[in-house]
Amino acid sequence: TYIVNDACIACKYTDCVEVCPVDCFYEGENMLVIHPDECIDCGVCEPECPAEAIKPDTEPGAEEWVDFNRKYAEKW
Ligand code: SF4
Repeated sequence: TYIVNDACIACKYTDCVEVCPVDCFYEGENMLVIHPDECIDCGVCEPECPAEAIKPDTEPGAEEWVDFNRKYAEKW
């Protein structure tokens, strides 16, 4: 899965949401999150993020964000 980290906070771009083929972006309290179970790992959102807040969970430091992303994605 891909995740969004705190570099997303206060970013006003939603290009990632528009390109996601499965609509798995959700609104957190002050940032966007990705639903880890809905993400199909296509990777098209990563280069769209101007804040570089979207990372594959295989990247160092990204795995700790999976639970956070799931928590806010499942509120909806
Ligand atoms: Fe959506 Fe693909 Fe990004 Fe996952 S990697 S959030 S499926 S655009």
